Amino acid sequence: MWYFTSEEKQLQEVCAEFARKEIAPHAEKHDHEETFNLETFKKMGELGVLGITADPEYGGAGMGCLAATIVMEEFGKACPGLTLSYLAHSILAVNNIQSNGSDEQRAKYLPKLVTGEHIGCMGMSEPEYGSDAIGIQTRAKKSGDSYTINGTKMWITNAQYSDIAYVYTRTGEEKKNLSTFILEKEKGHFQVGKPIHKMGMRGSPTGELIFENANVSKDHLVGSEGESVYHMMKNLDIERLTISGISLGIAQACVDQCLKYANERKQFGKNIGEFQLIQKMIAEMAAETEMMRHFLYNLCYQYDQGNKGPVTAAMAKLQIPKMATKIALDAIQLHGGYGYSREFPVERLMRDNKLNEIGAGTNEVMIMIIAKNLLKQAAK
Ligand SMILES: Cc1cc2nc3c(=O)[nH]c(=O)nc-3n(C[C@H](O)[C@H](O)[C@H](O)COP(=O)(O)OP(=O)(O)OC[C@H]3O[C@@H](n4cnc5c(N)ncnc54)[C@H](O)[C@@H]3O)c2cc1C
Repeated sequence: MWYFTSEEKQLQEVCAEFARKEIAPHAEKHDHEETFNLETFKKMGELGVLGITADPEYGGAGMGCLAATIVMEEFGKACPGLTLSYLAHSILAVNNIQSNGSDEQRAKYLPKLVTGEHIGCMGMSEPEYGSDAIGIQTRAKKSGDSYTINGTKMWITNAQYSDIAYVYTRTGEEKKNLSTFILEKEKGHFQVGKPIHKMGMRGSPTGELIFENANVSKDHLVGSEGESVYHMMKNLDIERLTISGISLGIAQACVDQCLKYANERKQFGKNIGEFQLIQKMIAEMAAETEMMRHFLYNLCYQYDQGNKGPVTAAMAKLQIPKMATKIALDAIQLHGGYGYSREFPVERLMRDNKLNEIGAGTNEVMIMIIAKNLLKQAAK
């Protein structure tokens, strides 16, 4: 068990209660129907977590990465899909505006995003550029005091519901000449393409953002032209740590389901929990989940203390989702045929978790980051 401060413990309890009452009862329905639980999402604004890292002067909670990860774990236990949408809003949109936007941009956008009146998303990936994010081709061409944006963003979480999009574009031919804009649906800056149907995270809407000669005044530019790579790098660690929090929640939910089932299901006249092969599965999944918890919250704590590091964040992002997939597969196995059916949540948890090995940087990209950095350090 990781030790939280009393404030963090209180946040955990409030989020666990909210997840139990408001999120969990609807998770199966939204997965089945591939719909977004907008009502509960809006209630997260009343709960005060939509701007978990935003400054209190804009209505935010003014907390850090550890607090955000607590929310991800608790919500992730109940419905990873809705939690992914929560992450796209609170970390990819709100936290990026908080940390990279100007005072005017923060004052303009954050208050409505923090209450849930507006929903946000972040557009980096494109149909032809995913892992190679620096190669993106959505172009912002300057003319006078405004920009004309053309291009398509792919796989964008919350696209269909977003009022505000935090978007990366290319403003020059040099590879790293990328610039960020905060775009508004109301001003016609973007259209939304077709919804994307997915294996998991089906309670989280995913779609395209389309820019067709979008006329955008220069006050929507974040920082200066050409600063996007700096913006991207600055916030990747918190994105990777918080998405790992969703996988931690998934792993814990699998352990909880297995403990319950092993004490109820009888075969050969005994609870299956009495069989040593079942005990092995439970012991290993519980031990792995506890290890993940300590590693992740330790890194989040370090992050909040200013000890940020792409290598350790990538290590968490590589290992935690991967271990959670293994745990979820074991949870299905432990439930036998029922585990493979939709009657129990473990198959949904497995499908949902697989995304966390792909989104926010794939396992292979994490391996590249870790190995390149370690080898470089060792060669010094
Ligand atoms: C449900 C969902 C939600 C998402 N939400 C968002 C969002 O809100 N905003 C956003 O911008 N993006 C989002 N994404 C996109 C996500 O970040 C990308 O899918 C991811 O970065 C991988 O890019 P890709 O899909 O283009 O795969 P590719 O980059 O084409 O990779 C294909 C395969 O090649 C491997 N590979 C690529 N390069 C290398 C290399 N150099 N060495 C070894 N292997 C390599 C990859 O690991 C992968 O296995 C989302 C994706 C999904 C599925």
